[in-house]
Amino acid sequence: MSQVAPSAPVPAPANPDATAVPGAPATIIVIDDDRAMRLSCEKILAKSGFRVQSFESGSAGLEAVSGLKPDMAVVDLKMPGISGMEVIARLHEIDPQIVIVVITGYATIDTAVEAMKSGAYDFVPKPFSPDELRLIVKRGLEHRRLVLESQQAEMERELLRRRFVTFVSHQLQTPLVAIHQYLDVLRRLDNPDPAKLHEWLDRCLTRTDEIQAIIKDWLTLAKVEGGQLVHQRAKVDLTRTIAEILKTYEVLAAAERITLENRMPEEGCPVVGDQNGLSVLFDNLVVNAIKYNRPGGKVAVSVERTPAEAVVSVADTGIGIPEKYRKLLFGEFFRIQDAKKTPGTGLGLAIAKRVASEMGGSISVDSEVDVGSTFRVRLLAWREPDEAQETGRA
Ligand code: ATP
Ligand code: MG
Repeated sequence: MSQVAPSAPVPAPANPDATAVPGAPATIIVIDDDRAMRLSCEKILAKSGFRVQSFESGSAGLEAVSGLKPDMAVVDLKMPGISGMEVIARLHEIDPQIVIVVITGYATIDTAVEAMKSGAYDFVPKPFSPDELRLIVKRGLEHRRLVLESQQAEMERELLRRRFVTFVSHQLQTPLVAIHQYLDVLRRLDNPDPAKLHEWLDRCLTRTDEIQAIIKDWLTLAKVEGGQLVHQRAKVDLTRTIAEILKTYEVLAAAERITLENRMPEEGCPVVGDQNGLSVLFDNLVVNAIKYNRPGGKVAVSVERTPAEAVVSVADTGIGIPEKYRKLLFGEFFRIQDAKKTPGTGLGLAIAKRVASEMGGSISVDSEVDVGSTFRVRLLAWREPDEAQETGRA
């Protein structure tokens, strides 16, 4: 077998189709003992914008794979030395996601089937036209891009899950350690001062409330994610829902001389959603608007409607949210430092956002530091069946 030096990589012209990962041209290796075939594959693929390098034997190609990290290998099945089938197996050992296209002669169609069974993605029978090769390569790279993307998404989900568990454990540990310390000191004192005893027990109780709030919010979030909180897309009257929520918080608001204004339309405001989910969502927004307000401030709930949607605004005259934090607000456990004097788990807005999107809506925020914030929830307006039909006919 004559030893031909591997070709130098052919430089790649820019072509967005020629990528497996955005921003970089895909690298393709061609392994074929037929020099003419190698040269023509190189030419065709380089012209389409790929980085191509070819090798005249399986062993030479395999040796170069770790360094080149190709996205795809075009492999001739019939070669002297290491067989095409063995090359496929070894390539997959090195990179399970590499896309392999086999080149087959007329007589080796059965082997092509065998090659596909052992993991080759596609095959191109000889002789083939430049367009045939390009099409198969393009399809193969699209496949690789999808596989890599779903792998990446899976990794991100796993990271988030792990980070989440660590966070929750940490959040629970802080109050638990405090309770443990108070109880430990009390146990060691023979005759604790009754006033101190009372004060410390009160602090322990406050800490148990914190733990309970975290667990309650965490369970609510898990329920939304598991599709157990937002059950239906039914007709819900937001005017009533908001009125009930505002009533619940009259005492809390009065303690800080905060005025609650219900500007929802008296005739009702029907939207598509789940009563339970919507109550959880607006409960969070109203409590935030009170918690992060100033004494003597105001909270107003209003709505703007079109035939298709209802945009409910919960506006406050509170501390406001600096621009740099606005995107982070809806993430789990995110709390702005200034807000930490106020109790909270940092899960309320994460829950609100998920509930809104489960119902086909969305949530956004506008804010000015020391002036106030407005949270807007966009929901689908409810239309009576005959109303919907009329619009459909129009
Ligand atoms: P909880 O889980 O009990 O609701 P929380 O209120 O801290 O706790 P979120 O409702 O998710 O959690 O809010 C996250 C953070 O966003 C708050 O800690 C606060 O820093 C900020 N924030 C939320 N709403 C407002 C608001 N209306 N004005 C100013 N800051 C706000
Ligand atoms: Mg909150």
